[in-house]
Amino acid sequence: MCPFYCCKSISCHSVLGGYTEFVLTFSVVNDKEIAKYRKKIIADHLEVFRNKRILVIDDKVVDRKQVLNYLKPFQVDIDEAGDGVEAIERIKKNQYDALLMNLNMPVMNGFEATEAIRAGKAGILSMDIPIIGHTADPLYIARAKTEKVGMQGFITKPVQEFELIRSIAAIFNLKYFNSALTFSGMTVMLVDDANVIRLSLRWLLEKFNINVIEAVNGTEALKHLRDNSLTCDLILMDIQMPGLDGLETTRQIRTDQSMRFKNIPIIGLSGESDETEISKAFDAGMNDYLVKPVDNQALIRKIGQWIKI
Ligand SMILES: [Mg+2]
Repeated sequence: MCPFYCCKSISCHSVLGGYTEFVLTFSVVNDKEIAKYRKKIIADHLEVFRNKRILVIDDKVVDRKQVLNYLKPFQVDIDEAGDGVEAIERIKKNQYDALLMNLNMPVMNGFEATEAIRAGKAGILSMDIPIIGHTADPLYIARAKTEKVGMQGFITKPVQEFELIRSIAAIFNLKYFNSALTFSGMTVMLVDDANVIRLSLRWLLEKFNINVIEAVNGTEALKHLRDNSLTCDLILMDIQMPGLDGLETTRQIRTDQSMRFKNIPIIGLSGESDETEISKAFDAGMNDYLVKPVDNQALIRKIGQWIKI
């Protein structure tokens, strides 16, 4: 019996100074066993895919349909684009949790599209979106090329159902896993006038071992920041608040010469998603911006980018 339970038996035969021959014997897997395994893979990944939005970018309709078919059992929202240009237009209008990007496409290929997205051409909110390359290239070439342009992973063509599910799930899971390790001992100030939002964000942040300080408006936030005993690594700042709003509070933090937290990373939170509103946040001195309702994963990802370890 194989000690790793992956095959039926392993044996080897060596000739001194010559060679070693390994023989691995596998049992034939019948359709019933494959169906059972498939059911398990789907059940194991239902939660990680729930309510996610994925953009599948491929010039070959049949390949897109195959991906859609494999992801059908999950509660996942899937959009399609035929090339890089179309993908960028879609990303400007929607927020995605991941992109599955064919590398070889006419008009704008997957590498060019990835570089454009990373440079902010699809909007500043999508610069760090996870991208999985999809390619028929040999593995070693695909790995080097996809990493170079900033992709998080790749899968080979023709697409295999289990590889597809595992690769996308790994991207979703990886974010959470790394973050939980990284944020231990960090402190985030949560500034929002809505109790329910503070409550849900506190719950999320504490799951990642982040210490949370709350403030219900800009005035209270500034008061906390001027307290000499305060430690704080990042601020999540609601933009619309009665009294001192998020934009004005940020301006005051950035321009107050005596402020210890003058350069602290500030992520703006707002229900507004149009470019003018987003530009106002950056002009006020915010480092980043998230549209409400805040996607938990996107928030954790942004915190990971800005927090100083
Ligand atoms: Mg508000």
